[in-house]
Amino acid sequence: MVVAFVFIIIVALAMFFALRKKPAVPTPMPVGYKELLIKHVAFYRNLDDAGQLLFRQKVQSFLGYVRIHGVDTTVDDLDKLLVAASAVIPIFGFPEWKYYNLTDVLLYPGNFSETNFSTTGNPDVLGMVGEGAMQRMMILSKPALHNGFGNTMGKENTGIHEFVHLIDKDDGVVDGLPEELLEKKYTIPWLHLMAENIAAIKAGKSDINVYGATNHAEFFAVASEYFFAQPALFKTIHPELYALLSQIFHQHPPGGGMRNNWGN
Ligand SMILES: [Zn+2]
Repeated sequence: MVVAFVFIIIVALAMFFALRKKPAVPTPMPVGYKELLIKHVAFYRNLDDAGQLLFRQKVQSFLGYVRIHGVDTTVDDLDKLLVAASAVIPIFGFPEWKYYNLTDVLLYPGNFSETNFSTTGNPDVLGMVGEGAMQRMMILSKPALHNGFGNTMGKENTGIHEFVHLIDKDDGVVDGLPEELLEKKYTIPWLHLMAENIAAIKAGKSDINVYGATNHAEFFAVASEYFFAQPALFKTIHPELYALLSQIFHQHPPGGGMRNNWGN
């Protein structure tokens, strides 16, 4: 009887220690991450020391809850950092932000098909946010991810584009209207401004990528790429759009000649 009792105590203690929550271990940052960010991410390069520290903390937090996988391709430290940078740039103005609608990012070796996710046939998609069975997943073409950060004169960034769709989706629908982020009084001006700019793109009178004329959701994502990639140029050519996007994202991207709003 006593033996059985002691045995039960031992088993209970073993279970207690086995099930006790391990202390949270921060995800180790990739080796040489500071140098990689300086070299490859202009947004990070243009931040002051305090901004860079905050950016690194947000990168670490993101890599702590999102897994990045390669599908028929490898994933190295720079790939991980570029995915994380794409995620952090549009939410950099928010003190707390977690992509609750994302758990996994799949990197593909190139363009893929939107219907069967195949890289053969007629692959014309560079990135997408999953729906249905692919909920909480994002797919990115690895070359497109790199091109977005490699071309310092460009207005396009596939990674940022897809994360802006996720931010848009935070209120339940991807419709170009991030209702959680935009004060009610700006809703009508934003809808007008989108319509006006989509018409200008269709008339060939805009330097915004023609893909932005597809619908409101794509306009929001495409204009945001330009806003973050070339803030100074965007502010000069599209001052009204710049003003509203800086309201939505709670920030003036570094390099745009405006004082930032995260502490200095
Ligand atoms: Zn899109």
